[in-house]
Amino acid sequence: MSGSQADKMAKIVSLCKRRGFIFQSSEIYGGLNSCYDYGPLGAELKSRVKSLWMDSMLREHENIKALDSSILMHPKIWEASGHVSNFTDPLVDCRTCKARFRADQLDLSSCPKKPSKKPGECEGEFTEARQFNLMFRTFMGPLQDESAVVFLRPETAQGIYVNFLNVMTSSRQKIPFGIAQIGKAFRNEITPGNFIFRMREFEQMEMQYFVKPGEDMASFEEWKEKRMQWHLAMGIRKEKLRFHEHGPKELAHYAKAAFDIQYEFPFGWQEIEGIHHRSDFDLKQHEKFSGKRLSVHDVDTKESYTPFVVETSVGCDRALLTLMVDAYGEEQVEAKEGEEGGQRVVLRFSPRVAPVQLAVFPLLKKPELQERARKIHQDLKKTYRLEFDESGSIGKRYRRVDEIGVLSAVTVDFETDSVTVRDRDSMKQERVGVEQLPAYLAERLIT
Ligand code: ATP
Repeated sequence: MSGSQADKMAKIVSLCKRRGFIFQSSEIYGGLNSCYDYGPLGAELKSRVKSLWMDSMLREHENIKALDSSILMHPKIWEASGHVSNFTDPLVDCRTCKARFRADQLDLSSCPKKPSKKPGECEGEFTEARQFNLMFRTFMGPLQDESAVVFLRPETAQGIYVNFLNVMTSSRQKIPFGIAQIGKAFRNEITPGNFIFRMREFEQMEMQYFVKPGEDMASFEEWKEKRMQWHLAMGIRKEKLRFHEHGPKELAHYAKAAFDIQYEFPFGWQEIEGIHHRSDFDLKQHEKFSGKRLSVHDVDTKESYTPFVVETSVGCDRALLTLMVDAYGEEQVEAKEGEEGGQRVVLRFSPRVAPVQLAVFPLLKKPELQERARKIHQDLKKTYRLEFDESGSIGKRYRRVDEIGVLSAVTVDFETDSVTVRDRDSMKQERVGVEQLPAYLAERLIT
């Protein structure tokens, strides 16, 4: 990462802490590496991301149903899925400083002793690479022996496969149909990092679409396109998004095709979502390991078959980091019309994403203005995510709302029948009649 890009990441991390988006987990105990807590604005933003994702699945498709499966599942599930034997990354130790690195991602790490160097560029010498399983193990019940071992799920998808028939029959679905789930996943990553990009506890938003063999590739193409459109609809700049096709070496042995959606972070182009053609691998494996049939019967054609699966899998935290990075901007501002001169930091969230859309300010702390501002706040509260702020100069309040991405600020002054509305991006101020305010805001904030 170049100096200025590293600087940008550091500024985003610091903004996230200062304004209550994201805190290091267990901070007062020195922090727990790779785990993060979402503060008031982060929790609101994350809930926006999740509901916009779930809506794009459930509200736009009658044949997609929700699921919320448990984190702890039967340990055989992870044998069937291949995670017990194959969910590994190659690990190397540095013989000099004893640090451990992912052998295939040395270029993304730095030497702990000489942070300006990549591992291997220092005098360090590596051990032979060995495979390290990324699943967290724990015990279920009072016995702590091998028979009680369970895993924290490393992905939410398996909960969907094992519930495939339950969902299909209970919601009277026919192929093709999908199951959408949001939930926590855990991976004991060798080298977590880049803030919330690679964590050990994170959240996934996964949808598995079950299709008839033969209709699979058309469905794969459709989902690839729909998922790219979702990121664009979140307001992410088009030029910062691209597809990356998995080549033969990256492709799982059972997969027919796989694409990642990548975003250009300050630390380079990285995956934010995977769209995978998983064939009938998972359902067949669970049939084999559970002894239960997981096929469907088509009453019209009288054939029985195991559906193929098209998976879309996006990390909620990575989607949120994408939003933060893409929205972050700095610019020089001239002092005028209540604006403070100097540098302003602004998060240019789109109206549907912004954790706070609108702010209401009384110009001064005078009861008459405070009362009228409170009334406007009260009236708009049901429609928008709002903030009320009466402390500090107007210029300071504008800066405060800019850096959390608030789209419009309404200032109540001595004119009783109108207010000033200031736009975050253009910083233009307009006089709007109190009566016209709801319609004026609806035009700008309801998308
Ligand atoms: P990577 O190559 O970055 O390790 P992956 O290919 O293992 O990712 P998948 O198993 O396809 O990732 O998981 C689907 C999505 O879950 C990813 O696109 C990413 O958004 C998210 N994800 C995976 N691992 C992590 C993690 N450690 N921290 C945060 N999000 C993650």
